[in-house]
Amino acid sequence: MPRRYYLGLNAGGPSIRKMLFTHGNAGDLRELNEFLAEKYQGAPILCKNGRSALALALKAYFDPGDKIIVNGFTCYAVYEAVVAAGMTPVFIDIDPKNLNFSPEILDEFWKKLEKTHHSTKQIRGIIVQNTLGNPVEIKKIQSFANEHGLTIIEDLAHSAGIKYNLKTEAGMVGAATVLSFGKDKSINTISGGVAVLRAPQKHEIKAPTKRPRFSDVARDRFYPLFTAECRALNHIHLGGVLMRFLITIHFVEKSADNRLSLNRRIPKFEAKLALKQLKKFHKRGEATLRDFYLVRDRAEVLKKLRSAGYYFDSFWYEKPVSPVRYYKEVKFPEKDCPNAVKVSNEIINFPKYYTEKDLKKAKEIIKPYLVGEFYG
Ligand SMILES: *Cc1c(COP(=O)(O)O)cnc(C)c1O
Repeated sequence: MPRRYYLGLNAGGPSIRKMLFTHGNAGDLRELNEFLAEKYQGAPILCKNGRSALALALKAYFDPGDKIIVNGFTCYAVYEAVVAAGMTPVFIDIDPKNLNFSPEILDEFWKKLEKTHHSTKQIRGIIVQNTLGNPVEIKKIQSFANEHGLTIIEDLAHSAGIKYNLKTEAGMVGAATVLSFGKDKSINTISGGVAVLRAPQKHEIKAPTKRPRFSDVARDRFYPLFTAECRALNHIHLGGVLMRFLITIHFVEKSADNRLSLNRRIPKFEAKLALKQLKKFHKRGEATLRDFYLVRDRAEVLKKLRSAGYYFDSFWYEKPVSPVRYYKEVKFPEKDCPNAVKVSNEIINFPKYYTEKDLKKAKEIIKPYLVGEFYG
């Protein structure tokens, strides 16, 4: 591993210096708002994080009690948002090739519900996720949604800037577009998120105005510094120990634990950083994703990768709805989603701070274990 990765300098996310010393003001919130309104052609609602933004977008277009179609391989944040909005998630199995529900799987699911006389009536919405930056077949999904009267929400936490069908940029199809600015997401300012409401709202949503908690802001500011320390200590096998300690004393928060709030706004300095990243991104017009690999004997592969110096305390996703500590609560329908279960036992992917070059050795380790095609 190149030494700079141990030191965590500029490792994918915002730099230590930027996070510690950027100062934001009301003008930064306004500018970010204007940029997003223009880019996604709607009304931006800036939030504490992506899940809060998703919950508000759902509240804007659906009624409590509605059922919402969700990708059967996802982050707990999505489940949390649907439930916080007063709705029920309906998990749909995935195609292992791109980790998204396919139009065929959706069709099959719908027909089965009708055949078994289960009501499809309460199903009103569908969240498109473009898992790890892999686009869904949007045209066919739009047809499916139109046929059944479903409203589409685009969740671009993994996929800001990607293109559907190699042409149109994601984020212009749904009634609303949601972005997360959380750790390891397409746009990364440690936390923050936005819902851009494009279609006329069914229920009027007001943007959160309450100031962020001081402790949350402080934790975000120090996050890159602490994680860099952990990476630095990794080669003497202390990184994991320090990280667990920092998490225990709540100095570092795992992204899944970032709490949902419908009334707190994004910290101003994070709005400033998010705008900078969005502008760069917008100009390059490229996606950032995690390459993924499906392997047998994953525990063994992970052990080998760790002893070769790769540091990752989590990957996406070790359960169909991750992290594992929240999995029970979700009551995931494993019987209906066999692909998601299988993939969650086989998948490996790396955080964005590893470059192609860094991953060369990892690929050699992984290769003998690959199942099916060589994805990623
Ligand atoms: C992370 C994530 C979100 C929102 O994340 P926050 O941590 O709340 O910013 C939404 N959708 C998906 C698929 C995610 O992975």
